[in-house]
Amino acid sequence: ASGLYIVATPIGNMGDITRRAIETLKAADLIACEDTRVTSKLLLAHLIKKPLIPYHEHNGERQRPRILEELALGKVVVLVSDAGTPLISDPGYKLVEDAQNQGYSVFGIPGPCAAITALSIAGLPTNKFTFLGFPPTKSGARKNWFEAEKRNSGTLVYYESAKRLTDSLSDARSVLGDRQAAVCRELTKKFEEVRRDNLSALIDYYATHGNPKGEIVIVMAPNDQTSDEQTSAIDIDTTLTLALEH
Ligand code: SAM
Repeated sequence: ASGLYIVATPIGNMGDITRRAIETLKAADLIACEDTRVTSKLLLAHLIKKPLIPYHEHNGERQRPRILEELALGKVVVLVSDAGTPLISDPGYKLVEDAQNQGYSVFGIPGPCAAITALSIAGLPTNKFTFLGFPPTKSGARKNWFEAEKRNSGTLVYYESAKRLTDSLSDARSVLGDRQAAVCRELTKKFEEVRRDNLSALIDYYATHGNPKGEIVIVMAPNDQTSDEQTSAIDIDTTLTLALEH
């Protein structure tokens, strides 16, 4: 059927593509993608040849009318990211919004997502969680970003670049306290690794071994106190330490 198809693609292991994703790519009249070189490789692996147009944050404004025009002509348009589920810290939100507003059908072809994969293996509560995207790159802004989640009673899931890992974990500890966290790295790939410990131990580990390489999702345990009136264990600790000092 004509419409916009949001198709998830592998996050590392090429085997993680669904039959529907392949069928949908085969049925496409046009494929919008972040990077045509990356998507060309995926299509080549499945012997699919289709017209590609780049769609990313720098050309979205310009490309959207073109894509919507194809939908108006009754075409099958597919949106893919370089990896994982489009729109999840990736382009596409405005396009889907416009397509919905203009009455076109929008279909999701589900598949890999690094955030959900990490959450499913971190061993931290999954009944309530917040996906936070990427933290700011500067320490001050990053601390404010954590500050806003201080009273969040769910698990926190976010993306972080490998080179900022130790600094980022340190900022998290200074704002959120010494919580349990899982550093989930290179998921579905050869050097896949989950390191789960309290933040202090994780910071020690990465300070000693150096920031790792590769792609990372951080999963952070919830605040153990959910109510504003209650004082958290961390606050009690801090208060006691201060009281003893004086
Ligand atoms: N849309 C993608 C998804 O559904 O997972 C996420 C895109 S975002 C631009 C890329 C970030 O996702 C990486 O910097 C990393 O934090 C995380 N990521 C992607 N693939 C990963 C993997 N295989 N292992 C760990 N993290 C990954």
